[in-house]
Amino acid sequence: MQRQKIVIEGIVQGVGFRPFIYQLAERFALTGSVCNDSRGVTIEVEGAPDVLDRFVAAIQNEKPPLAVIQSLHAEAVPLKGCVGFSILQSAVDESRRAQISPDTFVCNDCLQELFDVENRRYRYPLINCTNCGPRYTIVTGIPYDRPLTTMADFPLCAACQSEYDDPASRRFHAQPNACPDCGPQLQLLDANGQPLKARDPLEETIRRLKNGQIVAIKGLGGYHLAVDATNPGAVLELRRRKQRDEKPFALMARSLEVAQRLALIGDDEARLLQGVERPIVLLQKRADHNLAENVAPDNRCFGVMLPYTPLHYLLLQDEFEVLVMTSANLSDEPIAFEDHEACRRLNKVADAFLVHNRRIQTRTDDSIARVMADRPLLLRRSRGFVPRAIALPHEAPSILAVGAELKNTLCLTRGDRAFLSQHVGDLKNLEVYQSFKQTIAHLQSILEVQPEKIAHDLHPDYYSTRYALEESGLEPVAVQHHHAHLASCLAEHGVEGPAIGIIFDGIGYGDDGHIWGGEFLVGDLGDYERVGHFRYQPMPGGDLATQEPWRMALSYLFSAYGEIPEVVNSFEGISDNELRLVGQATLKGINAPLTSSCGRLFDAVAALLGLRQKVSFEGQAAMQLEMIADPSQSKPYPYLLSDDEGRIIFDPLPMIAAILKDCSAGRPVAEIGGRFHVSLASMIEEVCTQIRQKTGLGQVVLSGGVFQNCLLAEMTLTCLARSGFKVLTHSLVPPNDGGLALGQAAVVAP
Ligand code: ZN
Ligand code: ZN
Ligand code: FE
Repeated sequence: MQRQKIVIEGIVQGVGFRPFIYQLAERFALTGSVCNDSRGVTIEVEGAPDVLDRFVAAIQNEKPPLAVIQSLHAEAVPLKGCVGFSILQSAVDESRRAQISPDTFVCNDCLQELFDVENRRYRYPLINCTNCGPRYTIVTGIPYDRPLTTMADFPLCAACQSEYDDPASRRFHAQPNACPDCGPQLQLLDANGQPLKARDPLEETIRRLKNGQIVAIKGLGGYHLAVDATNPGAVLELRRRKQRDEKPFALMARSLEVAQRLALIGDDEARLLQGVERPIVLLQKRADHNLAENVAPDNRCFGVMLPYTPLHYLLLQDEFEVLVMTSANLSDEPIAFEDHEACRRLNKVADAFLVHNRRIQTRTDDSIARVMADRPLLLRRSRGFVPRAIALPHEAPSILAVGAELKNTLCLTRGDRAFLSQHVGDLKNLEVYQSFKQTIAHLQSILEVQPEKIAHDLHPDYYSTRYALEESGLEPVAVQHHHAHLASCLAEHGVEGPAIGIIFDGIGYGDDGHIWGGEFLVGDLGDYERVGHFRYQPMPGGDLATQEPWRMALSYLFSAYGEIPEVVNSFEGISDNELRLVGQATLKGINAPLTSSCGRLFDAVAALLGLRQKVSFEGQAAMQLEMIADPSQSKPYPYLLSDDEGRIIFDPLPMIAAILKDCSAGRPVAEIGGRFHVSLASMIEEVCTQIRQKTGLGQVVLSGGVFQNCLLAEMTLTCLARSGFKVLTHSLVPPNDGGLALGQAAVVAP
């Protein structure tokens, strides 16, 4: 006989871990105890050594679906001769530092009960258990316990209480446990938030959706706006009311089989769709889908998710195979999540509201992902992933990193763990900025940590920077934007560097005061050197150029030819007068700051190809260029790499000239777009080879918003692999500014 003490860290509280251990100990006939403590779970067991080994193996192999084991440490301790196995009550203080689980999709056991006529929770839309349901979005404080969740409003009935108290039950200590007798209830409200007399709110919702109405539906982290995805009129009306002209709407498909009829789905995509996190996955449309074209106009992809709450399953069970389920907000506002606020803000958008009275404590948008080079790539890391921790290389005093300004997220560290927040949004919007401050306060309170320093972007005018400098009261540390992108990718891989950083981005403030975005860096978590960049190019109209790609096209044409060459007849929708004025201003350098941005080069090429001259959301032109590009192209256009006092300068002007020639010769845009992508990939290979010769570094990081572009990323991976580079790309953290805060935190707490 032997006694072992097993200490397990990770997400092991509030996920059914102790009853799991209890049942496992019974199975192996071991005696001892299990309890929660400050870092996770501690188990003491007695038994024969080989049985103990099998017990430990079973913990690893059979752990509950929501549990994440970050470390498991077993050591022999003196034998005590226990009788039986018990779950010890944890001292409140000790479980405070445990990690809270993200919200998760309703598990298969609960789904079975949901559709079982005999079950007491038959068709109960808020069914959950220790293996599934809301977590992060209902937590009001720590430790994670019912009184400190929004379920505190609902006293458990006797039946629910006995499940809650029974270690053998799937609902042992399931904090959000509820049933139709004691739990939250559905209600249907009219556009003004007044209760509608409906016998069955769900049936009435379905009836209204069938009639083409727009219904706001309460989800896990906020409201969705739902319409029938096969009804073009309803979709159009939603666009009009939401003031969203072109951005694709997310879809919810009843099942994987239904999704497969809409889009091409490989094994990796299927896994991602069906994962417990249930993100929106970008999938290539099938030609024969039966949805309204205006769901995702001018787009090769659909954003599809599978149902993740019991309510979603009930909605999609019979009448609908697919619903549009877009986040409930007006263009740049944050997603609505509080009931009264949803009704107030959306009363001109929604015809009705399907609500329930379980409050959402923390707004959390749907996550968005795609598959790149056979790996998942998160483009927006939010519901389902937050607040899962990312390991940093070292323990360090707590840092708060406040991210960039668009696609803002923030990051708080505790010990050697970084907690990246949910998607916050564009801080220029006042309500988003309020949400930013609430998110900081919430993260600090559930992690119970007071940061010592605040990391912010070098850009002096970002709202996040101003918060750091003027409001936080913490010691500020500025981190250059593209260094933060590099560090974010290193941190995600648990690597300190050094590495070659290929950081292709929209725009970020450079340490020379120019606008960077096509950067070749060499750096690690601590520091970086800018070893090269795209040639500086005037950005006519400053920020306006990001909304009007034709301005960058004009800028490149002036640099190449000193004028707009005759072959370019016009930019559609742009008057000759405007062209002339902006041209003159650019030549004189008036309101035309210099940029090395790669995103702006994409804009210029998209405009030259006539894809679009103005965009309604950031990155739209670049996205279209990726979509039309023929991936089979392999011949790069000419470009120039020169040396400027030891720095490598990439000059795309020869490329622009060649593209123009191809355009006027009537070559297909798909071919030109494809060759443009190949050119960048082969340029990256050449640049990395030069840097390797100088530094001996063979490890490359690809980061920055441009690397949301899978075609470019995959072509680059191919090129770098043939030259023998080891390449790190993002997967769990977005390459765009949504991942920036992690990098900032990693730089300040290396
Ligand atoms: Zn469940
Ligand atoms: Zn109950
Ligand atoms: Fe960026």
